[in-house]
Amino acid sequence: MTARVTHWINGQLWDGTAERSGDVYDPATGKVTKSVDFASRATLDEAVSAAKAAFPMWRDTSLTKRAQILFAFRELLNAEKESVAALITEEHGKVLSDALGEVTRGQEVVEFACGIPHLLKGGFSEGVSSGVDVYSIRQPLGVVGIISPFNFPAMVPMWFFPVAIAAGNTVVVKPSEKDPSAIMLIADMWKRAGLPDGVFNVVHGDKEAVDGLLENPDVKSISFVGSTPIARYIYETGTKNGKRVQALGGAKNHMLVLPDADLDLAADQAVNAGFGSAGERCMAISVVLAVDPVGDELVAKIAERMPQLRTGDGRRGTDMGPLVTGVHRDKVRSYVDAGVESGATLVVDGREIVVDGDADGFWLLPTLFDHVTTDMTIYSDEIFGPVLCVVRVPSYEAGVQLINDHPYGNGTAIFTNDGGAARRFQNEIEVGMIGVNVPIPVPMAYYSFGGWKSSLFGDTHAHGTEGVHFFTRGKVITSRWLDPSHGGLNLGFPTQS
Ligand code: NAD
Repeated sequence: MTARVTHWINGQLWDGTAERSGDVYDPATGKVTKSVDFASRATLDEAVSAAKAAFPMWRDTSLTKRAQILFAFRELLNAEKESVAALITEEHGKVLSDALGEVTRGQEVVEFACGIPHLLKGGFSEGVSSGVDVYSIRQPLGVVGIISPFNFPAMVPMWFFPVAIAAGNTVVVKPSEKDPSAIMLIADMWKRAGLPDGVFNVVHGDKEAVDGLLENPDVKSISFVGSTPIARYIYETGTKNGKRVQALGGAKNHMLVLPDADLDLAADQAVNAGFGSAGERCMAISVVLAVDPVGDELVAKIAERMPQLRTGDGRRGTDMGPLVTGVHRDKVRSYVDAGVESGATLVVDGREIVVDGDADGFWLLPTLFDHVTTDMTIYSDEIFGPVLCVVRVPSYEAGVQLINDHPYGNGTAIFTNDGGAARRFQNEIEVGMIGVNVPIPVPMAYYSFGGWKSSLFGDTHAHGTEGVHFFTRGKVITSRWLDPSHGGLNLGFPTQS
């Protein structure tokens, strides 16, 4: 019998019986290891009700007390990050060191949110008119919904809930059904940290649970991360239902290599950023734009590094793990087939499998295409696997044009030693997160994460001050303490004097 993963509602595991459930795999063995309950609309509503009931108490809990609970949660997370990482590797497949890195990046948002007393400070203007002061405050929204993807089962929810909770909101998280266990350990940590029941809830499931969050009028905002078609649906439906929505979508990140770049360092970074986490990162590099005349040399340098990568079970110190499911592996593989059919040069063929792991795991090895053109699906589509495409471009301008013409605008990087070119690039490029000789420019927690164009719907990015803004509403108070000088009748519109 496989282990069961169920919901976390009002500070405890749900004790009902689910009508539907899904399989959770160990991608390195291809075996089903757990079954995860899928929430019905009624179960989702139960979680929202628990969060709604906890809101007035949590909103009125002092900033000092909220910060203390966040600090306690941070200590538990830091002490038990290996356990969270192990759960991620078991269900996602990424190698342990990578899973640990994900937890660390999530922890940085918790550390940022520990400063909530400072982050929520408003403004105060004394004497805007005679005896009149104006000040601003920010207040929590209420119940907030968070819907996350499979590729970062700990970090992506942590882009949102530390800030949301610190700001006084109560939360319902709908994690990916593919790797649902890491968030359960996190829920338990919140309880041990002293977070009151009902402030943090987890509901597992699929579209039914997501639609419940989108439709329940007590859910005030939705923070979504996932593929672009679903992000667009979430944004359109959520805003139609009167909710505040930030919906982060897919990506196709280009790395522009100028002729003056150090090609050895650029090749190292292209391999790291292309194949880390088996390419299942929204900030992975999937296209290298080689500016003439570096193409032949750069492709040779990337190709000569690839055999050094050891693919296999992420618990065994390998460099790259399996893909998340067999279905996803087959989809990525079909893109490799399509690339060959459309005439791209297959320099390294990842379909030839030699792995350090179970033969039934969801394997696909690092794959490199050269002479890719913009009409090929391996260029236009987000593949989300270990497939790196090299496009040859004649100039810096042609490279920038390609990046700006692509519908996605999540991340990009330029490799050059020319500061002027880098500065021009950051100014001209239509992408939300830019690396200068940094291939995966994920912003620190105190900046905000988010792309442009089809990589983000809504106008607020995750965490940083934009995150604080998203999870709070502003009020401005104009106040005076009446004395006899304020007497008399005057129907004119108030102006300063
Ligand atoms: P996904 O869109 O399939 O799923 C994301 C979430 O939506 C999951 O919780 C899933 O259960 C739910 N969902 C799936 N189908 C749905 C439907 N029809 N209606 C309502 N909800 C639905 O994405 P994924 O495969 O889990 O994750 C990979 C994608 O996420 C990639 O496209 C990747 O680029 C993107 N991503 C983006 C960022 C970013 O910051 N922009 C970060 C991480 C991942």
